[in-house]
Amino acid sequence: MTDLLGSLSGSTGPAGPEAPQCSRRGCRASARWRLRWNNPRIHPPERRKEWLACGEHRDWLQTYLTERGLWRETLPLDGADGTGDARA
Ligand SMILES: [Zn+2]
Repeated sequence: MTDLLGSLSGSTGPAGPEAPQCSRRGCRASARWRLRWNNPRIHPPERRKEWLACGEHRDWLQTYLTERGLWRETLPLDGADGTGDARA
């Protein structure tokens, strides 16, 4: 079975580690990006699913979603490296 969407959509791991990890299968790198997507066939329009991506796999995941017409936006993952102190 290579149901990538199904295997990736379970973003909550069994023993959630502190640092969010890349959603790419087999990648344990720390996530730096949030890819937000929606499948209009199974989700209401306002629904957003989220994948996390490291710097290396952001393009890969975004291309994967874009090719299927699912991709909506990619946002930086706040607090990934402690430099984003936008909240005063
Ligand atoms: Zn990765």
